[in-house]
Amino acid sequence: TIGSTAMAAAEEDLTERAKRHLIQPWPVAETMGDEARPLIGEGDGIYITDAAGKRLIDGPAGMWCTNIGHRRRELADVMHEQAMALSYSSPWYTTSSPSVALAERIAAHAPGDLNHVFFTTGGSSAVETALRFMQFYNNVRGRPDKKLILSRGSAYHGSTYLSASLNARPRDNDWMDSAGDLVVKLSSPNPFRRPGGKTVVEFADVLVDEFRDTVARVGAERIGAFVAEPIQASGGVIVPPEGYLPRIREICRANDILYICDEVVTAFGRLGHVFASGEIFGLDPDMITFAKGVTSGYFPLGGVVISDRLLEDLRRSNHPEAMFAHGLTNTSHPIGCAVALKNLDILEDGVLDHVREVTPYFQARLRDLADLPLVGEVRGLGMMAGIECVAGPAGEEGGALDETIGKRIDGHCQELGLLVRPIVNMCVMSPPLTITRAQIDDMAAILREGISRTMDDLEREGLWRR
Ligand code: PLP
Repeated sequence: TIGSTAMAAAEEDLTERAKRHLIQPWPVAETMGDEARPLIGEGDGIYITDAAGKRLIDGPAGMWCTNIGHRRRELADVMHEQAMALSYSSPWYTTSSPSVALAERIAAHAPGDLNHVFFTTGGSSAVETALRFMQFYNNVRGRPDKKLILSRGSAYHGSTYLSASLNARPRDNDWMDSAGDLVVKLSSPNPFRRPGGKTVVEFADVLVDEFRDTVARVGAERIGAFVAEPIQASGGVIVPPEGYLPRIREICRANDILYICDEVVTAFGRLGHVFASGEIFGLDPDMITFAKGVTSGYFPLGGVVISDRLLEDLRRSNHPEAMFAHGLTNTSHPIGCAVALKNLDILEDGVLDHVREVTPYFQARLRDLADLPLVGEVRGLGMMAGIECVAGPAGEEGGALDETIGKRIDGHCQELGLLVRPIVNMCVMSPPLTITRAQIDDMAAILREGISRTMDDLEREGLWRR
């Protein structure tokens, strides 16, 4: 363990060097290329250690990815062994055994006839691959006009051009260009922000009607795919109304619209299963995208699972010579696939069972926070939860004050030993899946104190009253 004084000195130095040479993701113009973010020195289990040597619960599991926790020797060892056996071989001309074994294991877990996997380097490239496959599929089938993509409010699907064009959270598109002419946006399925006077059941009907009307208005012959996270993750842990996704799936099937389920966050244990589509949501999508938890964040890897039916359609088309001109240097990376195989062993050897067992406790402890006057709603499923605060007058969304709430809570919680992922007025909790009941108690207690201190601050500053 690095001593805290040494760490503090190291951070000071790194801060200066980062400002000189590093560009951090999602920066603002004013400080782009001139910003250093807090230094994290070490990780161990569900904890990370900051520059001052302070141990924090890793509330967001990195970016919803360190599913089996930090410092797992098994993953370090397999990475080393694979690098020594074969560090790389070109997927253009060759096949490595870890990629075959991993594709086989993933196919066994995927629903329906999703039996083939195309590996990528992460979630954005997985979504990008699924969308380019849809375009290719419809070109080969002689439907070149069937390319529009349906996405929804509060969605996040990535940072490459096409995947980012689907994003629809506040501020995602304020300053960025996108392939807007290829995308049709539908409403957010957030029950908490549903139209006044509607029950959640009625809200599901509203969403389904909107979908059906959009298909009729735009024309099914122009729509290639619908892309959806089963639970919108960085949009604020939005659990959609029950039954709505399977109804949309049926409309897609009836209209030859490919249903792409973006499981970048929900797969690999977050909801207690390798994939949540079938087990939790009763869905059999045409494609599933995954990333993050597939390697528990130890190595960049993602992929798309594709239905046999689609590949069969290609084989039966009039264009056997048509080439899917798409592939990445690091597609099927042997080290990434080897890490994922070991990660899957660990998930299957108790972690998935643990998640299913501990989830009700995790959700209940966080829901207890709903009694705090600043908290508007606590929601979630599996090992993901969102605590939405409402500070604006009459619960108005997105006010200037809301913007500060998540950061204020995070500040207090970090002092108390918990890293929160603030998203505007929300705190997102998605800890490593290995978290114990006692650690869940710690997390909930710190959150309660952090939110209470935030309420005190807001009152003292005259910004809010309980
Ligand atoms: N899809 C979803 C649902 C995500 O949450 C993310 C990232 O947060 C992505 C795609 C993009 O993944 P990546 O950042 O690995 O490119």
